[in-house]
Amino acid sequence: MDAIAERLRAVRERIAAACDRAGRAPGEVELLAVSKTFPSEVVREVAEAGQCLFGENRAQEAVEKIPMLPDSLRWHFIGHLQRNKARKILPLVEAVHSVDSLRLAGHINQVAADLGLSPKVYLEVNIAGEASKHGFQPGDLRASMQALLALPQLEILGLMAVPPVGPDAGASRPWFLAMRALRDELSAAHGVPLGGLSMGMSNDFEVAIEEGSTIVRVGSSIFGRR
Ligand SMILES: *Cc1c(COP(=O)(O)O)cnc(C)c1O
Repeated sequence: MDAIAERLRAVRERIAAACDRAGRAPGEVELLAVSKTFPSEVVREVAEAGQCLFGENRAQEAVEKIPMLPDSLRWHFIGHLQRNKARKILPLVEAVHSVDSLRLAGHINQVAADLGLSPKVYLEVNIAGEASKHGFQPGDLRASMQALLALPQLEILGLMAVPPVGPDAGASRPWFLAMRALRDELSAAHGVPLGGLSMGMSNDFEVAIEEGSTIVRVGSSIFGRR
């Protein structure tokens, strides 16, 4: 087996083991293979090893790469989306993980209506309140939730976060717990399921699964170093 197929297999095994430890069914957690910076030939190799769901974080790169790959692959957009790029990105992806303001959500809703699309979205939360990061502050999200839920084209699946880089995977656990608590609170307050939690990357995806992640975004553990 080549190195990339071997790494994909290892990540899948670690996901299954984390599900097992957490008493969750393996089907509850999706693997999003983050292919940013890697050329289409490498993505094709990962696809041939059995992975069909991929994530990109830069609009320009996504617009160039996605059309070069088979239609059978599914794509999610995970990076900060500038409003003027939404029209190009929405037709290429089934979900956007990085809806980080009410203004962006409103714009995506408008473009989606024009294009006849109903994108799935996750609301990105700046869960640690970092100055350098995009995302709703938890308080802003509480205040915006009603308006977000009223946007008819958007299928809001849940919340997404990129917690601060810590010394080890365990350092992410309190942030993942805070995400789940915020999700539960919003879900109860608005009577909506918000079942999706997009959280966990190469360094901490097992902890994320233990704390309720439903989709892990894993790049370097599959593709190698960028
Ligand atoms: C790059 C990226 C990932 C994957 O990171 P790795 O550490 O390579 O697994 C996940 N989520 C987002 C938003 C990213 O930009």
